[in-house]
Amino acid sequence: MSVYLDNNATTRVARESRDAMLECMEDYGNPSSMHALGQSAKKRLMDARMQVASFLAASPQEVVFTGSGTEGNHMAIQGSCTLNPGKRHIVTSRVEHPSTLALFGHLEKRGYQVTMLDVDEEGRLDPDDLEKAVTNETALVSLMWANNETGVIFPIEEAVKIAKSKGCLFHTDAVQSAGKLKIDLSRVPIDFLVFSGHKMHAPKGVGALFVRKGIRLPSLFYGSQERGRRGGTENLPGIAALGMACRLFMEDDCCERVGMLREKLEAGILESIPFARINGGGAERVPNTSSIRFDEMESEAILDRLDKAGIYASSGAACAAGGNEPSHVLVAMGLGKAAEASIRFSLSRYTTEEEIAQLLGILPGIVEQMTGRMQ
Ligand code: PLP
Repeated sequence: MSVYLDNNATTRVARESRDAMLECMEDYGNPSSMHALGQSAKKRLMDARMQVASFLAASPQEVVFTGSGTEGNHMAIQGSCTLNPGKRHIVTSRVEHPSTLALFGHLEKRGYQVTMLDVDEEGRLDPDDLEKAVTNETALVSLMWANNETGVIFPIEEAVKIAKSKGCLFHTDAVQSAGKLKIDLSRVPIDFLVFSGHKMHAPKGVGALFVRKGIRLPSLFYGSQERGRRGGTENLPGIAALGMACRLFMEDDCCERVGMLREKLEAGILESIPFARINGGGAERVPNTSSIRFDEMESEAILDRLDKAGIYASSGAACAAGGNEPSHVLVAMGLGKAAEASIRFSLSRYTTEEEIAQLLGILPGIVEQMTGRMQ
């Protein structure tokens, strides 16, 4: 039996989401067509939009379907720059996902000043640092809600307050918090929020961007769909699956159960491998993510042995894990060399006790074999 503990890279599509997709493939109309088949598709599109809106406590008009989390992030960030042509400053953090960091690098080349906030050794962000960084020139504050490598949660409510008090827009990359914590946009005045289907049991190639009512966000793709905000015939199977994934979370968020399994995983590893340490263990984290370092070991060598035993985890972000660079997140937390000795285990609503037991039955042996060092 293989054990999948790499759910921050991508998740298994839920049966219910797959069924919703298949229905849209049978009922294959274009939501923009006026005939009955098109109207049936339009109804499915509206239903999915309602599901996503209630998942966010937003209104359906505030939901724009996208092709990925990356696309939503780019729409929000580039759109914020266009909305504020006179302001050339952006505040973000050092530990954001590569999908936004790459864009910030590009914007810097175009003359924007980008302030990257530091985090402490637990991966936490200090709101005072944000307060000091925002100026009259700041167009946008862009901060992830939860970190994809450590699961550490940023103080988003406080950060939004600071951004709003200084009159700038606020974007959050919620790709790793959607489906892991409750999001209530009726309470928190975020301007743009992004999440992605494949991180929460819908397929790849679909996501959603929340745009607060009243903001006329410029489009990246011109066309009539999504009320002129995102041209291109809608990916209805993906959208229906995303709506269903949101519904599954609202019916049963599984956060407590997943959190208990993570506790078992961490307690078991700390007990059997005394030199193991949890990255960000002292911070508030989403319940499914555990980044653990095994000082003086090579994470890739451990992962390779786990892989051979049918256990799948990763050393960091899937997009960066292929490279040889140590994780920029762990380096920003001051972990230095230990960044190369870290493994991320990420659970999902489908993770079982047996799977955690299987990992705990194998990992200490692997570490012992590689080091002979367990005391
Ligand atoms: N933001 C975060 C925090 C992520 O973890 C990811 C994916 O790993 C993305 C953005 C990009 O999402 P997508 O794969 O849908 O483009």
